Amino acid sequence: MHIYVAGNITVDETWQCSALPHKGESLHGEKIMVDTGGKGANQAIVLSRCGLPVTLIAGRGNDHYGEWIYQQLQAETLQLFPETPLPVHTDTSIIFTTNDDDNAIITSCDAASALETATITALLETARPGDVLVQQGNFTPEKTRALFTCARSKQMLTVFNPSPVQEDFRQLWPLVDIAVVNEHESRLLQPDTVHTLVVETLGSQGARLHAHGHTEHVPAVPATVVDTTGAGDTFLAVMLASTLLRNTRPDALALHHASQAAAITISRPGTRLAFPSRATLAALLAQAG
Ligand code: ATP
Repeated sequence: MHIYVAGNITVDETWQCSALPHKGESLHGEKIMVDTGGKGANQAIVLSRCGLPVTLIAGRGNDHYGEWIYQQLQAETLQLFPETPLPVHTDTSIIFTTNDDDNAIITSCDAASALETATITALLETARPGDVLVQQGNFTPEKTRALFTCARSKQMLTVFNPSPVQEDFRQLWPLVDIAVVNEHESRLLQPDTVHTLVVETLGSQGARLHAHGHTEHVPAVPATVVDTTGAGDTFLAVMLASTLLRNTRPDALALHHASQAAAITISRPGTRLAFPSRATLAALLAQAG
């Protein structure tokens, strides 16, 4: 079984400033962190640290940030597709944070958009029945639909985390086996109106599993919050890994494993740098509940 995560990879620059800048204003700030990010990359990295074979399908640009991302990923066990960079700028998120925990984020998606649907479907044509396709919300609804349709034709398991949310994603649920949504996405897209397994995350309140007409709540693991970036991605990846490694469908144990991993991520600064290590994840996934 092989997991394909189709999405984005970014460079996350975090800036600390006294206040968020207003229109026309120049401020001094401090660049406190540079890390790889992007929901596709985050989920692929954590899945691979769980010991699963993963291909991250994400375009990067032919600039110094694209090369930097490539070097950073050498420390991980995942495969990156395409191997060569695209003739665009690498996607970047500029995160402004203030001392009172306010933030504002600007993010680009040129590289994610430049990776053509046909290039991705050509790769998915090599997938086998039982392989997995995971997507997030960084592609257009049309591109997202085309990839899920291709995956279904190959009898792959499909997993959708529609973040950032777009209203037209609502049409895609019939192509999805497992939906992973936060409360806002759940309200807007209503995945439970079709026959989909739904995992709904509730921040510090934990998560709910809606399956076969039943709902189960799994509480969050108490944590000292340092930086919540990547919490949802850690949760999704560990929930899915726990499920796949036990050859089952999402259950309370998978949500419990995921909650523990997410609590580790939020207790540390950064994105990739905050994710639990392979050893930590192996110990956590070995817990029987
Ligand atoms: P993201 O901000 O990464 O996009 P999200 O909105 O997708 O996150 P959340 O529901 O905020 O996802 O969080 C995902 C999981 O992370 C939660 O189900 C919970 O297990 C854990 N989590 C988030 N915030 C906290 C917290 N303050 N304390 C403990 N656990 C938390």
